[in-house]
Amino acid sequence: DAARSLRHVVLEGMARQTERLVRLQVELEQRNQDLESFSYIASHDLKEPLRGLRNYARYLAEDHATEFTADANQKVDTIRRLGDRMELLIDALLHYSRVGRAEPCAESIDLNITLEHVREQLSARLEESPIELRVPRPLPTVSGDPVLLAEIYANLISNAIKYNDKDAPWVELGWREPATPGQPLQFYVRDNGVGIATEDQPAVFRIFKRLYARDEFGGGAGAGLTIVRAILTRLGGHIWLDSTPGEGSTFTFTLSAPSTSVPS
Ligand code: ADP
Repeated sequence: DAARSLRHVVLEGMARQTERLVRLQVELEQRNQDLESFSYIASHDLKEPLRGLRNYARYLAEDHATEFTADANQKVDTIRRLGDRMELLIDALLHYSRVGRAEPCAESIDLNITLEHVREQLSARLEESPIELRVPRPLPTVSGDPVLLAEIYANLISNAIKYNDKDAPWVELGWREPATPGQPLQFYVRDNGVGIATEDQPAVFRIFKRLYARDEFGGGAGAGLTIVRAILTRLGGHIWLDSTPGEGSTFTFTLSAPSTSVPS
């Protein structure tokens, strides 16, 4: 009897905890949606005045440069550069909110074909960089949205190109079967780049978070990893990071294999 009432207490406790977790999950999703709609509205409303500001700055630089002192021209130039940077940030915010609101399709996607598209998309950067792209074995087929899957790889590969100061840079794209059948597949994008200190690792998935001075590794918006994480959430997966400063980083994410249809 004691065992039965203990079991009852434990089960009730577990049910309460589960209920709490579900409530938290719903609350979290609501907050994410609020953030996405805020991003959308804010970025839309910011674009218009920014366009005006950039047009006036261009007009001053192109039509009035000879009337201004060198100092004034330099200030106009700074306004233009800040305007360009602001546009980059606003576009990233818009893109982030679009991804967050997207309704992804769940097609069977051969990731080797996705990778071909990504190589084409990044061809200029891949040609410029000495980076070696390693794919130790063919990638599998997964369930997902072709455009969003390509965006995950494009972001992670371009970061691997950008944040690498080695003489022989490489990036390896691999995957692992799940330990238990039916669990998601694990994918990794590993590089031998500059790495990320443990204390900085949680922050890299936050929007507009950049760890380096703006020009040291090229001026991204700092939204790529936030977008990758938002895409994976949309596809029912997640992403995490292991890294050693000076040695490199490994981004690992999960995706589902297509469900095998049972013949009737
Ligand atoms: P961005 O590259 O535009 O700055 P991301 O969101 O893609 O934005 O990355 C956020 C930050 O995380 C980068 O600014 C950089 O500091 C760090 N980071 C991302 N990928 C890597 C990587 N492969 N190696 C080292 N640092 C990285």
